[in-house]
Amino acid sequence: MIKTFTGPMFSGKTTALLATYFNMWNKKNIMCFKPKMNTRDNGIKSRKFTESVDAIEIEDLSDIYNYIKETTRTIFIDEANFLRGDVSVLNDLSINKNIDIYVCGLNMTSEQKPFGIMPYILAISDSIEISKSYCTICNREASFTYFEGDKNNDIIVGDGGYISLCEECLRNKNKENIKKKVLKINE
Ligand SMILES: [Zn+2]
Repeated sequence: MIKTFTGPMFSGKTTALLATYFNMWNKKNIMCFKPKMNTRDNGIKSRKFTESVDAIEIEDLSDIYNYIKETTRTIFIDEANFLRGDVSVLNDLSINKNIDIYVCGLNMTSEQKPFGIMPYILAISDSIEISKSYCTICNREASFTYFEGDKNNDIIVGDGGYISLCEECLRNKNKENIKKKVLKINE
């Protein structure tokens, strides 16, 4: 069984993941994983819970094989959008090793492109919970993460400079940016 929690930043995905974790009784049979990154974060954290959960840092999905035990029944994976590897690993763990897998990750980058291996994880998920955040500008439900500032690639780690937007406010932001670019050219 593979269940995936996805959505934009600030939508409570990790809170949903951790709520599932905290509701489970036998923590000894659970293993948690997260991508290895240069951040201050240790373990899996969310704004809603004061307690964080220890997680093993991995780079590739196949690294999970190095850690699981005979007794492992449940796996939690946070920030899966930053991982790489073949998602058939997750199918193998779920189907052949009978492990329940709970995954959390951003579905889109702040340029509204599918994020890393997330499209593949969503394709093999048995169930998907898509969370929404609220638009920073108009308070409507927001599906999009937007980066306020300059950057050169898809991936910047951390929350700094990111906001959530609804469709309309995203359109307006994009128009503003086009205007800014045009102004730059005319300077
Ligand atoms: Zn809005």
